[in-house]
Amino acid sequence: MFLFLDYDGTLVPITREPEDAVIPEERKNFLKELSIKVNLSIVTGRSFKSLEMVFGIVPQSIFAVTSHGAVIHRDSKEIFRAEGSIPDLLPLRKRISSLNGVIFEEKDLCFAIHYRKTPELEEKVREVFEEFVKRHPPVRIIEGKMVLEALYGDFDKGKGVERVLSITGYSCGEIIYIGDDKTDLIAFEKVKELGGKTVFVGNGNNVPADLVLENVDEVYRYLQDLTSSYITSR
Ligand SMILES: [Mg+2]
Repeated sequence: MFLFLDYDGTLVPITREPEDAVIPEERKNFLKELSIKVNLSIVTGRSFKSLEMVFGIVPQSIFAVTSHGAVIHRDSKEIFRAEGSIPDLLPLRKRISSLNGVIFEEKDLCFAIHYRKTPELEEKVREVFEEFVKRHPPVRIIEGKMVLEALYGDFDKGKGVERVLSITGYSCGEIIYIGDDKTDLIAFEKVKELGGKTVFVGNGNNVPADLVLENVDEVYRYLQDLTSSYITSR
């Protein structure tokens, strides 16, 4: 079995400040144990540095697909980096810093502007974002939950999944992907293509997923059930 798990909104509840999404020790230990029994990869839009800030050291048995798949780490070592180049973000960072409460996040070959603390500034954020991407066109633009992102390379969470599978040579066996956001839906398409199972977290109306779980607690319950039955039946 190969499990691909998104981080924010899947393994931890969404927080107002990104640095507050720290995983409880008990849950981290659970994932660590799990990753010894089955293949496990975290797939997140966060940079590796930002993931470590809230997850701590990623155990060597867990693959870390970060910055939407731009980079992959194993045992704290970078094992893959997508090609691409990102424009100078300093002017944009400066402009965003004048918008109180809006968070500018610089990652590997991509950046994100979060306005979840200040939804009233959405229009202004969009204006600044659109002006920038018009001048510096990215390969891909993604709109998530109260966040606008620009990707300067040919990568996404789906390609990240594919990359991890090819690195490990994993070709036959169950694949399960769990995520809660639009960026995960891109990975869902790839996982379906590969014959895997997709699990959405949250309000799953009109979401093309095989299963919908209500919240993060349910994700852990699901993982527990899944892996206990998997291990006993193996
Ligand atoms: Mg998420």
